[in-house]
Amino acid sequence: MPQYYVNDRAQANGDHEVHKYGCIWLAKVTSKTYLGTYESCHGAVQKAKTFYSTADGCAYCCPACHKK
Ligand SMILES: [Zn+2]
Repeated sequence: MPQYYVNDRAQANGDHEVHKYGCIWLAKVTSKTYLGTYESCHGAVQKAKTFYSTADGCAYCCPACHKK
């Protein structure tokens, strides 16, 4: 199962993006929190919301969980 991380820094719109390990955008994240391994991004985003209520899936690696 893939490993997921959440960006500790919010984007301009206030969202904390959730990324799958290996995402090209994750490489640019300077501070992240490890969420664990999940079958899909849904579980990962749910976990990320326990850290950041504005957590949202990355449009590139987690399109099924990307809301905006
Ligand atoms: Zn990503």
